[in-house]
Amino acid sequence: MRSLSLLLVLLLPSIARAETTTAAFSVVLDPGHGGDDTGIRRDPLMEKSLTLEVARSVGKIFEGRSDRRVILTRNADLSVPLNERKRIANEASPGIFISIHFARSPSPESGGPHVYVLAAPKVGGTTSPLNVEEAHAKSLGESWKLAALSASTLSDPPGSARIAPLPLAPLLGVTLPSILIELDALSSKEAARWQDPATIDDAAHKIAAAIDRYLAGDSSLDRIPPPGKNPPP
Ligand SMILES: [Zn+2]
Repeated sequence: MRSLSLLLVLLLPSIARAETTTAAFSVVLDPGHGGDDTGIRRDPLMEKSLTLEVARSVGKIFEGRSDRRVILTRNADLSVPLNERKRIANEASPGIFISIHFARSPSPESGGPHVYVLAAPKVGGTTSPLNVEEAHAKSLGESWKLAALSASTLSDPPGSARIAPLPLAPLLGVTLPSILIELDALSSKEAARWQDPATIDDAAHKIAAAIDRYLAGDSSLDRIPPPGKNPPP
């Protein structure tokens, strides 16, 4: 398992070189699905391919930046278990974790990005014994900040990207500040635009811009709630 994970963690070459000289901040990008798990399909689009293309594009944008180390939880069409993805993330501290996905919506009219942060799973109306809120208390506020900046850069028109707390499996157990971005609904009538490399490139630049703002300590979004509280309206 160890050797498998070493194969899976592919550091971009220029950034890997910088690792020996600087304590680079890790940007862990998690392209959703892979291998037999295609994610959402809308011929000819496949979620597993789009998420990988976007993650690779973000990595290319940061190539040559010695202050950050980009790590992909998969850099091929491979099935990687969630626990392995989380192990990769948690060993990359200090850093942030961004899981990239697409969605399926009930209406072809609805699409666009959504950003999620972890919420504790509820069992019978009370927090589960996992006590996820507590485990993530340190990073949850930072997760909200990263989510707010991501929603801000991804919104087109401004304010359109929503943020929500959900007990999402890809985020459970990740100790880094972490978010899950659904870039669009592939069921949307406008989803064909994802066949255009320019759409992939645009999404990657927006994610990279959000990461830049986060790492620069952008505090322009001051409506970020404390851990465990409700998201900004
Ligand atoms: Zn997905």
